[in-house]
Amino acid sequence: MEKEELRINEEALARRAKSKPAAKKSTVELVPKFCKGCGLCINTCPTGTLLFHDDPENKWGVAVVVDAPENCIGCRQCENQCPDCAIFAYRDTGKKDESERKAV
Ligand code: SF4
Ligand code: SF4
Repeated sequence: MEKEELRINEEALARRAKSKPAAKKSTVELVPKFCKGCGLCINTCPTGTLLFHDDPENKWGVAVVVDAPENCIGCRQCENQCPDCAIFAYRDTGKKDESERKAV
């Protein structure tokens, strides 16, 4: 990793240290082939859920990993910031989805 990526990780870990595991489970999914490793999602994540990691498979040499999924609050800021539609977040609202409601 480059110096800038290490700095971004350090800041994310500092935010993580101030956050707690989320009360409700949320899910974050990455589409690695679309990720260019810009770090916008890591920078914007308020809970330090995301980090850079070395990824020789990626042409940029780095990729994003959901390193602390238990801390994700499902705010979707990462998804909104990503210029390449490479990350998606789903918040568990605790409600049944449409298909489950119809089945009841
Ligand atoms: S904002 Fe998107 S392209 Fe940039 S590092 Fe995050 S997932 Fe990858
Ligand atoms: S949904 Fe929010 S808390 Fe979860 S990884 Fe994205 S920015 Fe971070």
